Amino acid sequence: MTDRPAETPAPVRFRDDVTVDLIKHSASDSDVLWAARVSTAGEQSLDELTKDPERSKGLINYLMRDRHGSPFEHNSMTFFISAPIFVFREFMRHRVGWCLAGDTEITLESETGGPRRRTIGDLHRLWHPGLHDSREAPTTRVGGPDSVRRDHVRCFDEETLRARRTAIVDVMESGVKPLIRITTAGGRTLRCSADHAVLTPDGWRKAGELAVADAVMTGGSAPLAVPDPIAAIAEDGEEMTYDLSVAGPWHNFLAGGIVVHNSYNEESGRYRELQPVFYVPGPERKLVQQGRPGKYEFVHGTPEQHKDAVAAMEESYAQSYAAYQEMLAAGIAREVARATLPVGLYSSMYATCNARSLMHFLGLRTQHELARVPSFPQREIEMVGERMEAAWAELMPLTYAAFNANGRIAP
Ligand SMILES: Cc1cc2nc3c(=O)[nH]c(=O)nc-3n(C[C@H](O)[C@H](O)[C@H](O)COP(=O)(O)OP(=O)(O)OC[C@H]3O[C@@H](n4cnc5c(N)ncnc54)[C@H](O)[C@@H]3O)c2cc1C
Repeated sequence: MTDRPAETPAPVRFRDDVTVDLIKHSASDSDVLWAARVSTAGEQSLDELTKDPERSKGLINYLMRDRHGSPFEHNSMTFFISAPIFVFREFMRHRVGWCLAGDTEITLESETGGPRRRTIGDLHRLWHPGLHDSREAPTTRVGGPDSVRRDHVRCFDEETLRARRTAIVDVMESGVKPLIRITTAGGRTLRCSADHAVLTPDGWRKAGELAVADAVMTGGSAPLAVPDPIAAIAEDGEEMTYDLSVAGPWHNFLAGGIVVHNSYNEESGRYRELQPVFYVPGPERKLVQQGRPGKYEFVHGTPEQHKDAVAAMEESYAQSYAAYQEMLAAGIAREVARATLPVGLYSSMYATCNARSLMHFLGLRTQHELARVPSFPQREIEMVGERMEAAWAELMPLTYAAFNANGRIAP
């Protein structure tokens, strides 16, 4: 890694690597096995887990080979990732993870007033004007895109359970997915995918792992989140789903009055001054593209090309960061001044996924000799993928081996 001060007066730093730390996980091969065996063993499926290791290995391989995917969803990994913004632009194309039905009511909170609600489907339509047919008007037409982009949601400090307020960073469409409906004794309803994380008195749990009588944390206009027992859980069809990304430090919001997590959380350039850390290619990064479009390869290039590229990038970064600081010093808002910063700036985020979505990500964002369908990812996102893969391989060795043995195609 290169991590050294620039030769300019600005305190700019340059890096040629990425950070990927597995910070939280509930993921093992046995999660796949119990989910698969419930089909045939019902309530005895847990007893089956340790009976026959060879059979377990064979079952995981069979599920992977025949692309029975859902048993690989009952697990969770949260990674802290620090990488250049251009990596995150690619990363966030993956709509993996956790999703809510379009009619889910999100609790918004203004700076002065109390909470009010709007469906996540409406938020998405307002957040992305032009994406939707104008006849498809939101059911509650309060404000337009500008006002929704200023909206904040009610969230909770996970230690004190006190209500807080945080900005919406993005509203995403996550694809058509099977849903479950959770209804609490207090009358709250959440319709979400089985892998959406819900806050309980014991911490974060996947919605699909919860049972009747388990408590979930709920909130309303009161200053504290409170537990509310589940009265019913049922499958609830398939439909388009959505998710929110909210600014930290609390990575949650209220959906249907129940505290849920969001799947991506990136640091905010509106709420904090962005730090001057920028990407430069390391000596091993192949810099030169050879061949025609659709059939090319990367080669190293000469030492001069590397030196010139790094020098040009460092100079440009230092200039744009100086302009950013000048604007801040002149009283310009951070959210405006950041427009001058390039995509080589480092950002950081938490990304949560399950093994199935991680396998899909790895199939596209890494190159591997065992891949039956080769992909040609940009090297920098591949560096992130390689580190996620190494952490996951330790947690789920049988699943990992089956993924490789079956051509690295996600089930
Ligand atoms: C090498 C490479 C080059 C690329 N180049 C470009 C480019 O030039 N321009 C560009 O815009 N993008 C580009 N992409 C991004 C690419 O088009 C995908 O958006 C990205 O890889 C996410 O893949 P995904 O949609 O399969 O993954 P995810 O969003 O993680 O989805 C996983 C799977 O779920 C299913 N799914 C998810 N959402 C839906 C939905 N709404 N409807 C139906 N099924 C759904 C699909 O089966 C999908 O494969 C590139 C990607 C790669 C790997």
